[in-house]
Amino acid sequence: MKTYDCLIIGGGVGGMSAAIYAKRRNKNIAIIEKFSLGGEVLELQRINNFPSQADIDGITLSQLFSKQIDALGVEVIYDEITSTKLSEFDKILVGKKDTYVAKSVIIACGMTYIEAGVNENDFLGKGVSYCAVCDANFYKNKPVCVISKDGSGLKAAKVLAEVCSEVTILDEGDMELISKANTNKKIKIISDTKLVKVIGDENVRGVEYTQSGKMKTLECDGVFISLGRKAKTDIYDLKKDEQGFIITDENMRTSRYGVFAVGDIRKKNLRQIVTACSDGAIAGQLC
Ligand SMILES: Cc1cc2nc3c(=O)[nH]c(=O)nc-3n(C[C@H](O)[C@H](O)[C@H](O)COP(=O)(O)OP(=O)(O)OC[C@H]3O[C@@H](n4cnc5c(N)ncnc54)[C@H](O)[C@@H]3O)c2cc1C
Repeated sequence: MKTYDCLIIGGGVGGMSAAIYAKRRNKNIAIIEKFSLGGEVLELQRINNFPSQADIDGITLSQLFSKQIDALGVEVIYDEITSTKLSEFDKILVGKKDTYVAKSVIIACGMTYIEAGVNENDFLGKGVSYCAVCDANFYKNKPVCVISKDGSGLKAAKVLAEVCSEVTILDEGDMELISKANTNKKIKIISDTKLVKVIGDENVRGVEYTQSGKMKTLECDGVFISLGRKAKTDIYDLKKDEQGFIITDENMRTSRYGVFAVGDIRKKNLRQIVTACSDGAIAGQLC
């Protein structure tokens, strides 16, 4: 099995910045990415605070990053890491497709979506989505619903209302005031709901939910889960805070020798593109 100098888990802006710095030091590295280079940035419609780019959309910005990764010849492995063994010596990363070994590891896996915890993942790519910006266009002129908690789905609903025929927000909390203030005729907000299950066959046909305890059905072609994000770090045996964010020192070193954490996944005050890049640069210079 090939042993890398450094493996970077996650190809968001934090991981790609780490790769740029490590590769320029001539290290034998790879990024392991489960989905697509760019990470969270791919979902951002407008970015106004990334220095040098006064106004840019997320897809264009992440393409600029990945172009640089390509030009440097950074190896990108498409796999999802599902468990790790981070010893003082070799670090072993087990993925869905293969197992990888490295002398050092940079964890750059960002935050993950909070799931509704019913059967929604059986319909992923068949009508269920976690990203309105990415997938809204698949539901042009079709009715969709947004699963939300205390207004977490409002932004997604606005994006969807631009193309969909009808957007129903099923919110767990009390949204009466926001519902009254809503002027978008395409958006309907229902309070005190709980998703019971997604219904469908090949594709989504609707959802079953409770409203104030009463069972209801809503027909729709798309279900957008918009419950916020959380740190998912259970596969890393490292020091973390109470919310699961990985604790590092100012050089991105974690509690384990040779293991670094960068970007949104680490305990920090400001989760932004520039701070993820800065973290990545520091770890990439030390790994
Ligand atoms: C709604 C919203 C708006 C924002 N707007 C701005 C803004 O205007 N300006 C700004 O600067 N910042 C903004 N941010 C914050 C910014 O997007 C993030 O701080 C930044 O993208 C974090 O980068 P990252 O590399 O740490 O993580 P991510 O971009 O989340 O990348 C993590 C990558 O790791 C991959 N991954 C995860 N787990 C695994 C695994 N087990 N195996 C393999 N791969 C894995 C994921 O697929 C992903 O590609 C916004 C964030 C949100 C949610």
